[in-house]
Amino acid sequence: MFLSVFDMFKVGVGPSSSHTMGPMVAAARFLDTMRASPFDFHGLRASLHGSLAFTGVGHATDRATILGLAGFQPDSYDHDKAEAILAQINATHTVHPESLPALHFNPQDDLRFDFGPNLPGHANGMILMATDAQGDVILQETYYSIGGGFVMTEAELAAGKDTDEGAPVPFPFKSAAEMLEMAQISGKSIAEMKKANEISRGCTESLAKGCARLWQVMNDCIDRGLTTDGTLPGGLGVKRRAKSIHDALQAERGMNLNAPHTINDWMSAYAMAVNEENAAGGQVVTAPTNGAAGVLPAVIRYWLDHVPGATASRIDEFLLTAAAIGGLVKFNASISGAEAGCQAEVGSASAMAAAGLCAVMGGTPEQVENAAEIALEHHLGMTCDPVKGLVQVPCIERNGLGAIKAVSAASLALRGDGTHFVPLDAVIETMRQTGADMHEKYKETSLGGLAVNVPNC
Ligand code: SF4
Repeated sequence: MFLSVFDMFKVGVGPSSSHTMGPMVAAARFLDTMRASPFDFHGLRASLHGSLAFTGVGHATDRATILGLAGFQPDSYDHDKAEAILAQINATHTVHPESLPALHFNPQDDLRFDFGPNLPGHANGMILMATDAQGDVILQETYYSIGGGFVMTEAELAAGKDTDEGAPVPFPFKSAAEMLEMAQISGKSIAEMKKANEISRGCTESLAKGCARLWQVMNDCIDRGLTTDGTLPGGLGVKRRAKSIHDALQAERGMNLNAPHTINDWMSAYAMAVNEENAAGGQVVTAPTNGAAGVLPAVIRYWLDHVPGATASRIDEFLLTAAAIGGLVKFNASISGAEAGCQAEVGSASAMAAAGLCAVMGGTPEQVENAAEIALEHHLGMTCDPVKGLVQVPCIERNGLGAIKAVSAASLALRGDGTHFVPLDAVIETMRQTGADMHEKYKETSLGGLAVNVPNC
């Protein structure tokens, strides 16, 4: 199994990796299929199913699908250009994807929210169709947005084609137990093994440059969030809070006013800054998803700004370690809220951040595995119930708490010797089983929990 650090951490657009980025990626893939096809296309249609239908409006799935069919991609998303193109599509009912003819697409009629049963493969399903001059469908593909911006066709899902097609990597660990065994035999850290796997598929220079860019985008996102106030879009009237919390923390600095636990407010402010940007449709990095995108950057920023001895030169090590843990969770359970609830999103993010922090603070592979285990264990059972289908409540604050748990988990692990009672593999399997047993209304449908108990007019 190999899942690159650049698959786990992808530069993209808010508010949701599964509901915004995934559909945009699916649309891009469908356009490629059309380009490779001999047919003469005249129009497009799309239908959204399961969670993509239930929380699609709140998560901007409709917008992402339309823009994707017009040729937009998450990595190069330009907000102002997107607004202009959307207005044009609504006025002309036509999209102009590159290397294809102009195609009829009226969002009102040609994009359908299907509130019937889920498609068979996954809770996040969508069907994209291309039509001929008579309006008959001549090409159709079903896509599943399986979390974190990952997309699979029906056939890929059935074949189990999830993470890897390339040559074998030097350290092909599929479980935490295998990871620890390989670390012991090789004498390498988790980050060193992950780096060797990455280098076997690419080159050192692109790895360093890519990691630097990821941290740059994450940190820029924190800074934008810490300097922007106002009300978030979507109709809930949620006010941005990261800036005011950060302003207050800065004003209190050096005044000896604060209890030690105020450090938690710094972590929350960093995480909330990212998730407020995400909720506003800004640029974020999936870590491992958009909804959970604040946890890991907040922990890195906390480490860099508040922990003596921290150095930006070890951010690669942090990201590689976190990606190794995220890969184990994705491979053996899920990072999708629609599949397994928020334990799979903020829980996974917290485990990844705990592992990364433990590693850069000198943890052994056993302590790193322990840190991830503690963080994930104490998110087990957490449901996904976003109010009004927006990635705002409880998501924004929850990222702050996920960061705080990650730091506590790393700290606890560093106080031990790596031996512990519950293996990470057992927690990942428990998360998978709990997710499978979880009622659908708690899996990103907004049909239960806070979503039905909090007034959202
Ligand atoms: S509750 Fe958690 S899983 Fe659900 S949308 Fe919010 S962050 Fe994502």
